[in-house]
Amino acid sequence: MKILIVEDEAKTGDYLRKGLGEAGFVVDLAHDGVDGLHLVQTGDYDLVVLDVMLPGLDGWAVLRTLRREGHEMPVLFLTARDQVEDRVRGLELGADDYLVKPFAFSELLARVRTLLRRGKTKEPEVFGVADLELDLLRRRVTRAGVRIDLTAKEFALLELLLRRQGEVLPRSLIASQVWDMNFDSDTNVIEVAVRRLRAKVDDPFEPKLIRTVRGMGYVLEAAETR
Ligand code: CA
Repeated sequence: MKILIVEDEAKTGDYLRKGLGEAGFVVDLAHDGVDGLHLVQTGDYDLVVLDVMLPGLDGWAVLRTLRREGHEMPVLFLTARDQVEDRVRGLELGADDYLVKPFAFSELLARVRTLLRRGKTKEPEVFGVADLELDLLRRRVTRAGVRIDLTAKEFALLELLLRRQGEVLPRSLIASQVWDMNFDSDTNVIEVAVRRLRAKVDDPFEPKLIRTVRGMGYVLEAAETR
């Protein structure tokens, strides 16, 4: 499997190349958009990791061009923190997934493997469980057809729980994914956010979907049918 990384920050680029290389991938690294696009056009890549902020030709231009030219490999783009517009824009332009910097390498590797497994199938734009629905592009959440207003953090938290539904997510993972923070000590912020999210998406409805797994974290799943 051949992966192209387009990243202008030398340190990040080298780190990703080394990590993905050690994970068994053949990796090329381009330091700007022009080189990146040239490599996509000439090489045969199974996946592209694309930084958005690039000198010259930025990630959006690279993405738009490569899709227009019919290259259909999955594209995982890397965006700056808390840029909701970036995520929507990237997915609209034909990217398959995104990661917010800074991210854990293990998370990138998991996303890369998922994308490669999925092949050319597009990422779903709507996630759901039971009668709960989250529309990624429209940033809209409904339950039993009722529109629910969420803050940006609540939305991100629910998106994460839905993407990984059925999995118990440790608080530390939620912290790093939703808050871009690496902390284990102050889990209160997560507990508060989960409580608020529950008040909106679970309390007025049945069945309850978000469950606390004591000492471990949270899981979102439909109640078992008996
Ligand atoms: Ca950059």
